[in-house]
Amino acid sequence: MSKPANEWTALTLTQACAAIHKGEFSPLEFTHACLERIETLEPRLNAFLHIAGEAALAQAAKTDPASPLPLPIAVKDVLTVENMPCTCGSKILEGFVPPYTATAVKRLQEAGAIVIGKTNTDEFAMGSSTENSAYRVTHNPWDLSRVPGGSSGGSAAAVAARLVPAALGTDTGGSIRQPASFCGLTGLKPTYGRVPRYGLVAYGSSLDCAGVLAQSAEDAALVFSLMAGHDPLDATSADVPLPALTLKVEGSLPLRGLRIGVPQEYFISGIQPGVERTVKNAIEQLSHLGAEVQQVSLPHTEYALPVYYIIAPAEASANLARFDGIRYGPREQAESLWEVYIRTRGRRFGAEVERRIMLGTYALSAGYYDAFYGQAQKARTLIRRDFEQVFEQVDLIAAPVAPTTAFPIGAHGDDPLAMYLEDIFTLPANLAGVPGLAFPVGFDENGLPVGLQLMGPHFREDLLLQVAHAYQQTTDWHLKRPPIDNK
Ligand code: GLN
Repeated sequence: MSKPANEWTALTLTQACAAIHKGEFSPLEFTHACLERIETLEPRLNAFLHIAGEAALAQAAKTDPASPLPLPIAVKDVLTVENMPCTCGSKILEGFVPPYTATAVKRLQEAGAIVIGKTNTDEFAMGSSTENSAYRVTHNPWDLSRVPGGSSGGSAAAVAARLVPAALGTDTGGSIRQPASFCGLTGLKPTYGRVPRYGLVAYGSSLDCAGVLAQSAEDAALVFSLMAGHDPLDATSADVPLPALTLKVEGSLPLRGLRIGVPQEYFISGIQPGVERTVKNAIEQLSHLGAEVQQVSLPHTEYALPVYYIIAPAEASANLARFDGIRYGPREQAESLWEVYIRTRGRRFGAEVERRIMLGTYALSAGYYDAFYGQAQKARTLIRRDFEQVFEQVDLIAAPVAPTTAFPIGAHGDDPLAMYLEDIFTLPANLAGVPGLAFPVGFDENGLPVGLQLMGPHFREDLLLQVAHAYQQTTDWHLKRPPIDNK
């Protein structure tokens, strides 16, 4: 054994895999080390909704150390894992145990991964801070008085605090990229359809993507490559071959020939100065690595926010109709069936979920459908075309992930619109279905991580990962650790 157990958890996923493959420690020893770290730090973080310690140890004891991913991971609580509770952060699914495992998780398990627990999320993934969880508020390991972002905030906090080497998240409008940015992580939202949605509890079905939060592009590439690919159980899953994901950096100008577009619409007034400065520095660093940077325009960007907040609630209002107290989760007792529905839904959905159901139902109702949903679909097409046109001029787009860094817990408590504005730079990729990657590129004036977002053409996750990897070979922002061990 080359290192004491408490240092194993500081390794990146790729390093830990290599160490296990070399026999430096076993999957079981590593799982023990993660569980010890969870025991110490979880009370300060509230990253998990369910910790499956014993099941994880039993699984780890059987894991083949030679498998591609013989390590514990955490899974956002909107992805199902057989025999593990799945609440989606909602009281309406309190105690619900699904009978099957999501394809994305299952593929990782087949590659050796051990699910150590389910992570906290905004209720049904609706939110940008994880404060909408019906169970607990997750704290950002960089500053415990701040949010970790959301909705995959539990996964982000768990990886940032090195409780697990990687975690799964979902991204409907930014929920992987924004928490990755707030917690100093590399987070990949794949192309829509690239990773199967089977077992992902639907929020906005035309937008939902499962992806990964990890410490580096290399780590994210490994997990992503194992979960991607066509799934007959998901009618919208794409059957497009995955390009090779061996990330290489060659020479001192590894990005020579690469054209990067910087959209002028993403540098708006209101963006935090520390974010703007750090993002611009990072783009300059990409040009030092050989990339050719030019300004581009995505002229319909301003419509992304209103369009998303019609389409996502509309789809959510239909998807959430299935939670009626009869089929899943607990049932409130009442005299009539109608009252069972009303009581169960009335008592067990949180305020934000109710707001979305009402917004969505309104947008879809007869007489308003054309004015809202129909118009939003047309504007969505224009947003998608903006991307298609820009990708005729450049290979990928670089932009901020969010207008701010992690904000204090409670800061947007009574202002849903301020919370929605957090998503302004991440929503367009979901509306267009293109892949997006966030990775850390520095700190703001308060010492909080700032992320850079790369967006690429459909199915070009390889390009995004390759560029982030080249950046990470010449900088060490992704290796910085939050001060949580010192407190
Ligand atoms: N914050 C956005 C919302 O509330 C996006 C959430 C997500 O990506 N799941 O809908």
